[in-house]
Amino acid sequence: MTLDPPTILALTVALAAAAALYLTVEWRSVREPSLLLWSAGFATITVGSTLALLRINGSLVIGIWFANGLLVTAHFLFLLGVARFTQSRLSPAWFLMPLVWFGMLALPADQAWSKAMLAVQSLLVALPTLRASFLLRPHGRSLSVGAVQLRFVLLIHGLFYLAKALSVVIPGTLIDLAAFKGEIIQVSLVEGAMAIMLIALSMTGSERYRREQQIARLAARDPLTALYNRRALDLRAPRLLAQVTPAQPGALLLIDIDNFKSVNDLHGHTAGDRLLIALSEMIRGIVPRGAVAARLGGDEFVILLNQASTEQIVELGSALREQFQHLAAQSFSTPQPVTLSIGANLFDQPPASLTALIEQGDSTLYESKRAGRDRIRLVDRTVGRANGAS
Ligand code: GH3
Ligand code: MG
Repeated sequence: MTLDPPTILALTVALAAAAALYLTVEWRSVREPSLLLWSAGFATITVGSTLALLRINGSLVIGIWFANGLLVTAHFLFLLGVARFTQSRLSPAWFLMPLVWFGMLALPADQAWSKAMLAVQSLLVALPTLRASFLLRPHGRSLSVGAVQLRFVLLIHGLFYLAKALSVVIPGTLIDLAAFKGEIIQVSLVEGAMAIMLIALSMTGSERYRREQQIARLAARDPLTALYNRRALDLRAPRLLAQVTPAQPGALLLIDIDNFKSVNDLHGHTAGDRLLIALSEMIRGIVPRGAVAARLGGDEFVILLNQASTEQIVELGSALREQFQHLAAQSFSTPQPVTLSIGANLFDQPPASLTALIEQGDSTLYESKRAGRDRIRLVDRTVGRANGAS
């Protein structure tokens, strides 16, 4: 079965319109401007491809140069969308691209013009497309699957148009833009229809993946301190706890601010919030690699360590208490000192569950509070060493 160019163009119109609609619907739920720019690009292709059909009726000005100008515009919109997606700045030179296109119109329309026009138009499509692909290269961090796909689809599409621009210099190539004659045009029409599908799918894939990552990040973090929340700890703890062996003990430290209510009562809730954020920063700065820190709620925090030792726990707990006490004493005057109490448990067997481990931590913390606050209570539950130290 062979498809004649007008049929492929009609298919292109349908595909581009569907892509524009699809991206607009995505934009309505996500409100990400890049989706709207990409959608505008496909809408432009829809109009351009519809107008391109008119050249069969002899409307050459609209059917050829105006339609091709819209194709260039569409790829420029794709580049704008990618720039927005990657938060990159574009050189103002890119905005001069339409001028090049309109400059072509001043030239006499003969066979040479037809070739020159095809070459320039192809370059004007290739350059923004390759630039967009380049913007999507990984910048130190890995790209999502959708963004990698978009990067390569744009690269192949851009290279295709670069080859198309160069192909016009091959002697004997037949290019009749008015009648859609010549292999280059036929191949290009088929490539265009395929590119629309692949580009549109990877665009939505890129945005959706990023959105999902954002949602997952938000769901895992405590909104005030940006530390992990209990749900994130529940998800991360099992892997860490499974690594616990007598040679590689684990530890759980429960940390609670002493007399925190007086900061709220005497200096306001916002001051209390600031102190919670400051403590989170200290915790973040002090936890070793591979450990997990989280805010359980209120003024209670947890650090889960692997490869722990009593010396490390005491060192870490003391450093944290000292830093915090110093900051709190400097920032707030309160009837009773605002300090930290810590309950720590060292264990060399994977516990029954994280909940059981936190309950143990809670009772150790309670002992620390009961003993007068502002201290660390450590219970060593490793085999043969079941004892506690304050
Ligand atoms: P203790 O020495 O026994 O630990 O007493 P405390 O005054 O520190 O109070 P407690 O730990 O029993 O309770 C924590 C308080 O923290 C209760 C609540 O008013 C306050 N709180 C909980 N969440 C927040 C928050 O997000 N921001 C602020 N500013 N305060 C909070
Ligand atoms: Mg407290």
